[in-house]
Amino acid sequence: MKTEVEMKQGPQTKESHLWNAITRYNPKTEPTVAVSGEGSWFTDEKGNRYLDGVSGLWCLNLGHGQQEIVDAAAEQMKTLSYFPLTMNHRPAVQLAGKISELLGADYQVFFSNSGSEANETAFKIIRQYHNQTGNPGKYKVISRYRAYHGATLGALSATAQANRRVKYDPGVPGFLHVQPPYSYRSLFEGTPEETDLKAADLLESTIQHEGEESVAAFIMEPFISGGGVIIPSVKYIQRVQEICKKYNVLLVMDEVVSGYGRTGEMFGFQHADGVQPDIVTMAKGLTSGYLPLGATAVKSEIYEVFKEQGKDSHFRHVSTYGGHPAACAVALKNIEIIERENIVGRVKELGESKLGRLHQLSDHKYVGEVRQAGFLMGIEMVADKVTKEPLDDEKLGSILAECKKRGLIIGRNGDTVPGLNNVIIIAPPLTSTEEDLDFVVETVESVIRSL
Ligand code: PLP
Repeated sequence: MKTEVEMKQGPQTKESHLWNAITRYNPKTEPTVAVSGEGSWFTDEKGNRYLDGVSGLWCLNLGHGQQEIVDAAAEQMKTLSYFPLTMNHRPAVQLAGKISELLGADYQVFFSNSGSEANETAFKIIRQYHNQTGNPGKYKVISRYRAYHGATLGALSATAQANRRVKYDPGVPGFLHVQPPYSYRSLFEGTPEETDLKAADLLESTIQHEGEESVAAFIMEPFISGGGVIIPSVKYIQRVQEICKKYNVLLVMDEVVSGYGRTGEMFGFQHADGVQPDIVTMAKGLTSGYLPLGATAVKSEIYEVFKEQGKDSHFRHVSTYGGHPAACAVALKNIEIIERENIVGRVKELGESKLGRLHQLSDHKYVGEVRQAGFLMGIEMVADKVTKEPLDDEKLGSILAECKKRGLIIGRNGDTVPGLNNVIIIAPPLTSTEEDLDFVVETVESVIRSL
């Protein structure tokens, strides 16, 4: 007799033709085959339920089963199934206006389908902007070690995690990197704020050494997420803005993970008073993962340069599906729910009262540092608190496996310097119930304390 799943989806076989993303082939593991989801939980084809403590790939911010979003997509597909953004459609115009409002200044918004594309789009805009404002030599983009900015070759060149890059190098010319403000393992002495500000000085000296006439932009996440949840002092972000302005270097804020409430503000950069990036890129939380959508929001002063008449000044860039009407309708409904349900306030409050309890783990012999911004949490695991030697791979893997056995999916940071992917990552849906959050905290705490 066929199972309910087979009747709905056809049989699932182990000899799958599916090539999994960023996953080592291992003939011994049975792949998890998800079949349904409800709130922060999903169920696999064997009927096991798991709490998704990393929101898929940090994107399922409103959890599964938001009927209003499903209805908005269906309604839009019925009304206008597809339309290119070489012209306008209403959901895209409305969404661009809403994004600009949320960013707190006038921005012009270019739509794409993913975070990688949103960053690629930014890089092309940056080069063309400088080209058309009398600085054609300004083409270099600086980012930070440990950063991840996407999988496509430009975005991968801005990425600085060696193991993600080595087999695909050389990347695109003109991308360079500086040390991040990583106070736990800083090259400098001092308080976290002092070492963070010294990391900002490195950006300034790099611009000077490269020649300011060659540096086009600096791209950063407000809080490095996949590279190990690195939370700098807000003064670092403010200082970076000052440096960028001083050298006519455009500041690009990658809000792909931190946008739309994850860190307890609508956008991560909004933690830092007075910061208003030249360009903001976003994806994931923009639709809570219900449909693919990326966006590159560019300050209106920059866009002016692309409006000049008679000079072929327009942006020669197109994405067939970027800003698909259904994706824009989904994003509008997603934002409506975030605002109506005060999701940002909820993240602030429950981030502190619930997830924040994990700071108690700081006393554990294998916990180097617990870092958090809202529902973005990293626990850096070390074998020795004094030498900060990373906890070995096997022990770290066993924490993730044991959590999964108990029904909780958590993650770890992407490949960086070998050994330094020792940060456990917790980023549950922003709609997780209080009981869900208790389950996350109690499971992680009990697994780590049993080491
Ligand atoms: N930027 C950041 C900070 C990310 O974490 C990611 C993906 O994880 C990207 C960009 C790329 O987004 P996408 O996978 O949608 O291309």
